[in-house]
Amino acid sequence: MSRGLFAEHRVLWMPLAWPWRPASPGARHCCEAMAAALEHDCPQHANPWQCPDTVLVYHEPFDEYGIPIRDGGMSYLRLAHCPWCGTPLPKSWREPWFAAVEAAGLDPQAWESLPERFLTAAWRAP
Ligand SMILES: [Zn+2]
Ligand SMILES: [Zn+2]
Repeated sequence: MSRGLFAEHRVLWMPLAWPWRPASPGARHCCEAMAAALEHDCPQHANPWQCPDTVLVYHEPFDEYGIPIRDGGMSYLRLAHCPWCGTPLPKSWREPWFAAVEAAGLDPQAWESLPERFLTAAWRAP
């Protein structure tokens, strides 16, 4: 995909070294269609970027929903509304996440050493 297309919606599954991981079992979505679209249990493909049957990704720590861009990397186009029910999707927690990780004295790139709460919604729970 051309870099110019949808430039302002295009974000990376960050930090870069993170492997894809599914949302926590308790994650709630706006509707059944969204929940179904986010399921990725394909035995042939390790992650949604490799699987033509998976149309959307959800980044739980950032609370972001997007369309995977299959250019060999792991970026996605952020969605502002659910394509099925029209619900406005949550604001992104991407920048606050980096701020919180750095405030805790941790390295966002070293995902393997991050506490589990930063890899789920737990870090932003009220
Ligand atoms: Zn929905
Ligand atoms: Zn597949």
